[in-house]
Amino acid sequence: MTNIFGYNIDELNAIFKELNIPSYRSKQISDWIYKKEKFSFYEMTNLSKNLQENLAEKFKIITPILLKRLNSKDNLTSKFLLELEDKIAVETVLMRKNYGNSVCVSTQAGCAMGCAFCASTLNGVTRNLTAKEMLGEVYFINNELKKENKNVTNIVLMGSGEPLMNYDEVIRFLRLCHDENILGLSYRNITLSTSGIVPNIYRLAEENLPVTLSISLHAPNDKIRDRLMPINKKYPIKELIKAGKFYGDKTKRRVTYEYILIDNLNDGKKEAKELASLLKNQLSHINIIPINSVEEREFFRPSKEKVQKFLEYLTEENISATVRKEMGADVNAACGQLRNRYLRKGEKK
Ligand code: SAH
Repeated sequence: MTNIFGYNIDELNAIFKELNIPSYRSKQISDWIYKKEKFSFYEMTNLSKNLQENLAEKFKIITPILLKRLNSKDNLTSKFLLELEDKIAVETVLMRKNYGNSVCVSTQAGCAMGCAFCASTLNGVTRNLTAKEMLGEVYFINNELKKENKNVTNIVLMGSGEPLMNYDEVIRFLRLCHDENILGLSYRNITLSTSGIVPNIYRLAEENLPVTLSISLHAPNDKIRDRLMPINKKYPIKELIKAGKFYGDKTKRRVTYEYILIDNLNDGKKEAKELASLLKNQLSHINIIPINSVEEREFFRPSKEKVQKFLEYLTEENISATVRKEMGADVNAACGQLRNRYLRKGEKK
C-alpha cells in the first residue's frame, strides 16, 4: 500500500489519474492532509463514500509515531523520539522562541561524519531519511503546536545526520516545506547546517532555494579541525570558507558559522584572532556554542568568563558574533543524545 504523505499536488494528480480520479480531487485531498492535518480518508467529508473506500483500500497516510517526549523545565524546548515505518527511531526537537516556533529536523538516522564531540555519530549512520519522513517530523510537531493554537514557523536542519550527504531527499524536503499547498514556509525561515561537504555547498547555491546556510566550523585551522571533524581531511578549511563565501554571494544570504567552544582546545585568544582573519572578507555571523558535554566524550565547556572573552576578541576584530542561547540542556537536546540512550537501553515504547 502506497503512503501518499509527502506527495505534492502534481504527484497526487499523477497517481490518481491512473485510477480515473479527477484532478480537482488532488487539491481537496492535499488540503485535508497538509492544511487540516486529517490522515484518514474517512474524515475527508467532501469525498464521496465510494471514493473514500476506494482510496483507503489503495493508499495510506502515515507520519511518524511518538516513542518518547521530554519537556525542558522552562517548557520552551520539547524533544521527541519518533518512530518511522521501519521501526527506526529519530529525534526531533521543538524550540519555542520569541520570534516563533522552530523545529530541529533529523535528516539521517544516526550520522557517518564521525565528529569527535557529537553524540549522533557514535553508532554510525543507519540510513538516510526520505523527504516524506522529514516532512513527517515537521507535521508531527505542527500537530503538537496546534493544541496550543500555534504552528511551525521555522525549520533548522540541525538534528542528527549530515543533510548534504542526503542531498536529493533534503532538496525535495525543502521544496515541500516551501510549497504553498503544503507548509508554505519562506526559504528564509529554513536553515541548513552542514559539517562542510564542499561540492554540495556549491550545488546548493545553484538550486535557487535561498535557505540560510550554517557551516559547522568549530576550529580556526586545519590542525584543530582535523582532530575534531574527519571531513576536514577531505575538504580543508580554506576550501570550506571559499564555498561559504560563494554561497553567500550567490544567494545574498549571510552565512552563519557555528563554533563550538571547547575548554583549552579552541577557545583562546590566538584561535579567536585566527578565526576572525579567516572570515574577514565575507558577510558572515559566528554563533559561539559552549559545548554540551557528551557523556561518551572528553570535551569540557569553558567557563562563562572564557566564553565572554572569546566573544570580545571577535568583536574587537569587527566580526559579527553572538553566544548561542542554550535551550533544552535538561532534555538531552544536544544532537543524538536521546536516541543514543534509547539504543543503549533498548527501551520499549
Ligand atoms: N551534520 C550537520 C547538522 C547536524 S549537527 C552539521 O554538522 O552541521 C548540528 C549542530 O550541532 C552542528 O553545528 C554540530 O556541530 C552541533 N553539535 C554537535 N554536537 C554538539 C555538542 N556536543 N555540543 C554543542 N553542539 C554540538
